[in-house]
Amino acid sequence: MTPPTEEATDSGLSVVATTSMIADLAHRVGGEHVTVTGLMGPGVDPHDYQPSTSDVIKMGEADVVIYNGLSLEERFVEVFDSLSERGVLSIVVAEGISERDYRNPEEDDDLEYDPHIWFSVPHWQEGTQHVADQLSEKDPENASAYQQNAKEYIEDLEELDAYIRERIEEVPEQSRYLVTAHDAFQYFGAEYGFEVVGLQGLNTQTEAGTGDISRLADFLVEKEIRAVFVESSVSPRNIEALIEAAGSRGHEVTNAGELYSDALGSAEENAETYIKMYTSNIDTIVDALKD
Ligand SMILES: [Zn+2]
Repeated sequence: MTPPTEEATDSGLSVVATTSMIADLAHRVGGEHVTVTGLMGPGVDPHDYQPSTSDVIKMGEADVVIYNGLSLEERFVEVFDSLSERGVLSIVVAEGISERDYRNPEEDDDLEYDPHIWFSVPHWQEGTQHVADQLSEKDPENASAYQQNAKEYIEDLEELDAYIRERIEEVPEQSRYLVTAHDAFQYFGAEYGFEVVGLQGLNTQTEAGTGDISRLADFLVEKEIRAVFVESSVSPRNIEALIEAAGSRGHEVTNAGELYSDALGSAEENAETYIKMYTSNIDTIVDALKD
C-alpha cells in the first residue's frame, strides 16, 4: 500500500522574488503551484533598494527566495546569507548562466561582474531553465508542470528574441549606439550588436561627474549620435545635462524617451511583464535610431 503523499497546500510553494523581472519569471514558471511575492515594484532601483523589515520577514518565512545575484541587490547581502539557516531555498538566476558569459565591468567599477543579465534574452532563457530545475528539485511532485511552464516561456522568449533581431535591422549599422543614464545595457549590446555607453557605471550609486558628461558629449559629437535615452529607475538629470553639453558644442541631441532598465513598468504603461517591457524598449530604441 502506498503511503499517502504529502499534499501541498492549494497555494503551493511561497516564493519571494526581488526584482519585478524575476517575479514575472517566477509566475510563469511556477504557475498555479506557487504564490509569488515581488519585493520591488515598477520604477524601483534594485542597486539602491534597502529591504524593509517586512521584506526580511517575508523572505524568512518563504519556501523559496529568487534573486538576480552578481551584487545587483547590494543591500540584501546579510539577508541572503541568513536564508539557508532558516531552511529557505535561494535560487540565484545568474547561476543559470555560465560564468564565462558574464560581462566584466568597466575597470573603474567596484562590481566584479555586470549584473544586468536579463537584457540578453538567451541568458534569460537559461535563467528560466535554472529556476525551473531548482523548483523541480524542491517540489518534485510538480516538477513536470515547472518544466512544461518553462518550456512554454522559453518559446515565448524565443519569439521575443526574433522580434528584437528583426526590428534592429531597421537601424543603420553606423547608428547602433545606445546612450543611457547608467550602464545597464551591455548584455543587450553584446547580444544584438550595439555599442552601449552609460553615463553612470553599472551601479547607480556611483555618481556621474561633469568630466564624464563632458567626455560623453564629445563622443556624441564625434559619432554623430542624435538620440539618447532616460531610464525609468534612474533620475533623468544627468541625461539632461548631457543633452545640454552637446547643445553647447552645437550638436543637437534629443531625449528619445524612457527605457525600462532595472525594473518593469506598470500595466497602464503596458510594460508589466518582461516580454512587454523588452518590446517597449526595443520599439523606443529602434523608432528613435532608424532613418
Ligand atoms: Zn542597473
